[in-house]
Amino acid sequence: MSGAGDASQSPRPDRLLAIRNSIARGERSVREVVTDAIDRMTSGNPRTNALTQILADEAMVRAAELDAARSSLGPAATLPPLFGVPMIIKDNICTRLGRTTCASRMLENYRSPFDATSVRRLVEDGAVIVAKSNLDEFAMGGSGEHSAFGPTRNPWDLSRVPGGSSSGSAAAVAAGYAPAALGSDTGGSIRQPAALCGLTGIKPTYGRVSRLGLVAFASSLDQVGPMAHAAADVAPVLEAIMGHDPGDSTSLDADARQGSELLTTPIVGLRLGVPSQARSSANHASVSRVLEQTIATFRAAGATIVDIDLPHADAGIAAYYIIAPAEASSNLARYDGVRFGRRAAVTQGEPLEAMYTRSRTEGFGSEVQRRIMLGTHVLSSGYYDAYYLTALRARRLIKRDFDRAFSRDPGMPGVHAVLMPATPSPAFALGEKVSDPLSLYLEDVYTVGVNLAGLPGLSFPAGFDTSGTARLPIGMQLVGPALGEWTLLRIAHQFQSLTDHHEQRP
Ligand code: GLN
Repeated sequence: MSGAGDASQSPRPDRLLAIRNSIARGERSVREVVTDAIDRMTSGNPRTNALTQILADEAMVRAAELDAARSSLGPAATLPPLFGVPMIIKDNICTRLGRTTCASRMLENYRSPFDATSVRRLVEDGAVIVAKSNLDEFAMGGSGEHSAFGPTRNPWDLSRVPGGSSSGSAAAVAAGYAPAALGSDTGGSIRQPAALCGLTGIKPTYGRVSRLGLVAFASSLDQVGPMAHAAADVAPVLEAIMGHDPGDSTSLDADARQGSELLTTPIVGLRLGVPSQARSSANHASVSRVLEQTIATFRAAGATIVDIDLPHADAGIAAYYIIAPAEASSNLARYDGVRFGRRAAVTQGEPLEAMYTRSRTEGFGSEVQRRIMLGTHVLSSGYYDAYYLTALRARRLIKRDFDRAFSRDPGMPGVHAVLMPATPSPAFALGEKVSDPLSLYLEDVYTVGVNLAGLPGLSFPAGFDTSGTARLPIGMQLVGPALGEWTLLRIAHQFQSLTDHHEQRP
């Protein structure tokens, strides 16, 4: 069991809990913490390109306000749970501060008049928004290379991708700019970059976190969620942002705040299902090794490992790459240079149509254009039944496979969570897959099914690939039944109390 033994040492000072506690104990002012974050971002971002904007002035104003509030409340006051914690927000989540660009020329100067509900809740809980992070344009991609502002680089090896589409959020936290960030996940965009950058990230149950203020990509799949070093750091951020929001009609009205204290409950007797598909598929050798080591660690922690089947998992990629583009083609229709988005120059006497076409041609990058064309095609008459309806049927079967794995009915596996890799390989080289869209889509093999089924999925650092020149993190994934976030966080936390992968840094 690698790393056991080191795990009991006190956590690194860049961990969210360490920062929060040092402020709460009065050891550091918010101003000191935020200044430190700004210094790290300013000096580090030219290397990683993880950030689209550093909100230095805004963050310093807020830090001064929080320090003033603190001194008027007195040292004994109970502070809000994220008081003074610097946070980075993916640039497809609306913030009143700065711009919300979606890493697209189309929205390069867009300023949101409001904060997304998730952002508002972070701020209400005392967080300080210090930057917006780079992403694949409109969150379409899995490498961070499809950004109008240039690719993000992986802090573990600057010649490699950080994953995507929450590329900047992952790279920024891994590089130590802030202890946590928000991402969005439509088909793996929190879990995959978290895995490739050595972080813990969770895609909540569909509806758990409000989508109000998240710029829509594929509305039936999109969720906002946190990324941080460890499950114990992810938990308070999730607690802050989740809960019912009347402004999002798909928001669930489930038990709102609960949970962080459940993390310490041991997992003796918990049942973890490992899909035969995850063990047999042609994985990278290091990923297979780490999966087996993770299984051994969970066994040692008292969990029962159960072999399960997800027979329709193979259909996930095909179904996702029909459904997501179909919804995207509809969602992105609003960016026409008139209702929304940057307008191309109009020549006198030119038909209106030409202005729309030019605005969309200039405003969208090639991957976004590809998705819009794919989506328009699969929804067009004559193809709708063959592609779109078939994909919806596959979606149901994928969901049913998971439901069966979790079912407690006699003869059913009755697992508390499913364990499988988060990605088929560690971080690949920049440029390696960017001209081959299909190979990039295949990286999503373990993540898209979870979005199609609407379930919570968590990825956590579980080991390293040491076969090349750089040490590269490898992430495993836990998938739970609907509203099972706290079980997933608890399982990951118990794993992290026995290992120290989450305490390694580039
Ligand atoms: N990589 C997937 C895609 O390109 C997932 C993106 C996401 O989750 N936003 O669509």
